Amino acid sequence: MLKSASTELRWPAVIDPRYAQVFAAFVQLEASQWLPAERLRALQAVQLASRLQHAAQASRWFAPRLAGIDLQAANAFAALATLPILTRADLQDPAAGLFCEVGDAHGPTVSLSTSGSTGEPVKILCTLAAQALRQAFQLRNFAWHQLDTRKTYASIRSGLKLGPESPPQRAANWNAALAALFGSGPSWSLGINAPLERQLAALAGEGAHYLASYPSNLRGLLELSPDNPCGLEAVISAGEAMDPALAEALAQAWGVRVLDEYSSEELGPIATLCERGRFHCMAEGLIVEILRQDNSPCAPGEPGRVVVTDLRNFATAMIRYATNDYALPGEACDCGRALPTLARIVGRERNLVRLPDGSRFWPNLSLMHGDAMRERLRQFQLLQVAPTTIRLRLRPRRALSAEDRAVLEETVRAACGALFTVELEAFDGPLPTGPNGKFLEFQCLLPDAGQARR
Ligand SMILES: [Zn+2]
Repeated sequence: MLKSASTELRWPAVIDPRYAQVFAAFVQLEASQWLPAERLRALQAVQLASRLQHAAQASRWFAPRLAGIDLQAANAFAALATLPILTRADLQDPAAGLFCEVGDAHGPTVSLSTSGSTGEPVKILCTLAAQALRQAFQLRNFAWHQLDTRKTYASIRSGLKLGPESPPQRAANWNAALAALFGSGPSWSLGINAPLERQLAALAGEGAHYLASYPSNLRGLLELSPDNPCGLEAVISAGEAMDPALAEALAQAWGVRVLDEYSSEELGPIATLCERGRFHCMAEGLIVEILRQDNSPCAPGEPGRVVVTDLRNFATAMIRYATNDYALPGEACDCGRALPTLARIVGRERNLVRLPDGSRFWPNLSLMHGDAMRERLRQFQLLQVAPTTIRLRLRPRRALSAEDRAVLEETVRAACGALFTVELEAFDGPLPTGPNGKFLEFQCLLPDAGQARR
């Protein structure tokens, strides 16, 4: 039931005016998710036309690119398809002309700094209207996941400015909008830089029903604690692509539901699993395209680059913005929601092996988690350091014999390709993480591996 901001006016509830925009958006999202696909697309076209018209006026980047194009709703998707792909490098350049003046209806603008998984910081401007919609998406996501928001929510993630030894940071609620509108149980957070043993101690000591973290961190916790550490009911994975085998292992060992969310710091929630286990895009605020290298749309089941247009945040013109992620478009979902689907989010461009002929593919990392590897290694990371060289960083469980080394090299070649020379680099302690504390099991370090091409 909706929480009233007044102890006297209980029903119908009085909304806390600070969250009226979030609530208004949430109510509309609850209805729009059931609209027929054609109606949803027509509404998107209306908003896309408005977005493009504003960019044509207010963005120095887009003004020349949109000049002379029909930007009415009937032509909006066709106009979008003519635009080049915007890259993270473009967004990093404050002189590029992507920041726009906005009218009063958008509310005040705040600056968001994002680190990204590659440690290349980006600063974007975000309007209050856009933030309210993002918060409303989050409320809807809680509802889709059927989370009981009176329970305890723990998150272990980056961006908290907590040291490895910092105690858990407690909060009275999951977030302020949830608390004001519906009521909320407590939450606590730890930095992703906290050692796994400390994370497990915090889970046991503080308790939690839900745990949000990155898949690589959840894998580390599962390896250290084959039993559910504190009566967790669900884990919410975000920030990295979730390996289906890991999701299955977590569900089996801990008896939890595994809920995957796809979001980015620049764009907020992008896609969320519905109760039927399919990713739906947040179509009321974003147009999500899955594109081939020639920018034509992928067919269902065909992997391509994720390119997103933010329909709501007019302060930064993120129009056809390449997230550097890869995903597969999905089929219609039988849950009844026409919000477009993704069959799978497969990861980042840097997670691809690059062959000397320029072709790229995902390494078969499940081979790296087999018994032969587990009995020899506590932790591994694969780095493509040269066109035909893979470096296996490893933290061994024991002194490695010549035979052990041969097994490791063969497994790496099976996962990445027979043509590769394998270098071994052993570490005594945990392997180093990326600049924001995330850990990629495979990373291509060849020049321009992280640059989406136009
Ligand atoms: Zn669905």
